[in-house]
Amino acid sequence: MLEIIDLRKAYGSHEVLRGVSLTLRPGTIHGLVGANGAGKTTLINCLYGVEGGFAGTVCTTEAAQLVRDITGLVPYEPYFYPRLTGREYVEFCLQARGRPVPDLRGWNEVLELPLDQYATEYSAGMKKKLALLAVLVQEFAYLLLDEPFNGLDLEANLLLKEILRQLRGRGTGILLTSHILGTLTEVADEATVLVGGRVQRHYQATEFGTLEADLLAALHGDKLERLRELL
Ligand code: ATP
Repeated sequence: MLEIIDLRKAYGSHEVLRGVSLTLRPGTIHGLVGANGAGKTTLINCLYGVEGGFAGTVCTTEAAQLVRDITGLVPYEPYFYPRLTGREYVEFCLQARGRPVPDLRGWNEVLELPLDQYATEYSAGMKKKLALLAVLVQEFAYLLLDEPFNGLDLEANLLLKEILRQLRGRGTGILLTSHILGTLTEVADEATVLVGGRVQRHYQATEFGTLEADLLAALHGDKLERLRELL
């Protein structure tokens, strides 16, 4: 398991995470939901170790392993060095971890990327798929996916949902953020709602029926009465 216990993170006087606890279990898709600025990316970055200077505990129950050693990250906006082809990017990611470079043909029959073109020239959706490819070929125990559906077309969206379901079936634990609530509730087994840097509530899939109404009330409670007057 990956565990976050009472995570607190501030930028200067701005407290972004105010005591967040969350567990990511193997073989589980866990959705992280929240408004812009709620702290989702900050949480993922603290968990992965990209961000330091936080209070609380971030750990894995897997023996003597760092979260980063067993976890792949697809950031919200993956960065690609100029003049690096898609293939070279994947090779770079693997070599940085001292891992052998596998044959990419199998995965690329699925993802259909122009691997010999410069990654910086890819479309937004292709960039997302390339960042995914680089973690999928590494067979991590856990994946942290920040808005993985962002920029994907319908075909790629369907494919990614199927990839996530199959990874879950193989035991991978997946934490993902998405602003598209429908997509998230279709694939997730549980979800955590962040409001103002705090966990508003953890939901199990059986409770997703009330998630949208709860979010509407939590995020726009004050506007609902006005809407009723207007409509
Ligand atoms: P979104 O849905 O828009 O991606 P988010 O939930 O991922 O939002 P974060 O990116 O984690 O939110 O940002 C949370 C808060 O922390 C925001 O108010 C943001 O301005 C602030 N923040 C994030 N990174 C930094 C930074 N490096 N320096 C200062 N403030 C930051």
